Amino acid sequence: MEINVYNVYSKYLKGKFGEKVYKLPINLPLTCPNRDGCVGSGGCIYCGEEGGSFENLPNSLDVKEQLTANKDYIKDRYKAKKFIAYFQNFTNTYMPLNDFKRVIKEALMDDIVGISISTRPDCINNDYLEFLAEIKDEYDLDITVELGLQTVNYHTLNKINRGHTLAEFIDGVLRNKRYNIRTCVHMIPNFPWDDMDDVKEGAKILSALEVEEVKLHALYIVENTVLGSMYKEGNISLVSKEEYIERVIAFLEYLSPNIVVQRLLGRAPEENTLFVNWNESWWKIRDEIISEMEERGTFQGRKCNYLNGKALERFKK
Ligand code: SF4
Repeated sequence: MEINVYNVYSKYLKGKFGEKVYKLPINLPLTCPNRDGCVGSGGCIYCGEEGGSFENLPNSLDVKEQLTANKDYIKDRYKAKKFIAYFQNFTNTYMPLNDFKRVIKEALMDDIVGISISTRPDCINNDYLEFLAEIKDEYDLDITVELGLQTVNYHTLNKINRGHTLAEFIDGVLRNKRYNIRTCVHMIPNFPWDDMDDVKEGAKILSALEVEEVKLHALYIVENTVLGSMYKEGNISLVSKEEYIERVIAFLEYLSPNIVVQRLLGRAPEENTLFVNWNESWWKIRDEIISEMEERGTFQGRKCNYLNGKALERFKK
């Protein structure tokens, strides 16, 4: 499906690298400061044992072994030649600086053109960024730090036990910018405690901060989590699929057209999942969103008219 209503990640990669680029997930034996008691315990109320992903190789394999195994598989299947090393699970900067340098350096191979590092806004600082900036220049890499925010509503951030508020996120984005490191932000537009205004404000804040990329996923619910218990006890009412579609469309309309959108929905493991994507395939819902936007003649950035002194527009000749 040719997608013209939003700024699609695969097109960005093709434009930048001249061909398709594939992400290779890396699974490190890590935890998260929101689970081990450093900033919180128990983690975010929706976080399962996998800490963000469920399709990775075992973390007993080292970085090179994981990259090589994943690469061999993808190379054969898709004739791929360029890759991004994606440090995906848990909080990939939550380790001493020297260990961080070692694992990142292990990922440097000829066909690795980029590195993506998933982490929390309170787990990135100048020392880690200085190192990333150095290797970015030395190896001519596209480096992205993925920050989980999920919502800009700081009351909801508190409810979901994120262990940080909006301020730490803003600090993280500005810090990445100072070191010329790209930021990708993870957002969940359908928290039961958020409404449409929260979603629009989320798009506006990301646009004002000029983040480079965003990833959306619909809230899913897994067993053995606080959210799972709330769901089973009937203590939350979930947003409908139709409302999710409306929220995503509004988010994209308010989002700057410059921001690259990595995805509109995520996936969840089949096992132990109580609720995911309204029991439909993620791509079917994505296609519904695209069709709906096409039908309405709307697109990413259509309502992004609020930056750069909107009230002064009237004095322009
Ligand atoms: S920050 Fe990520 S890994 Fe940590 S508890 Fe929350 S969802 Fe899980």
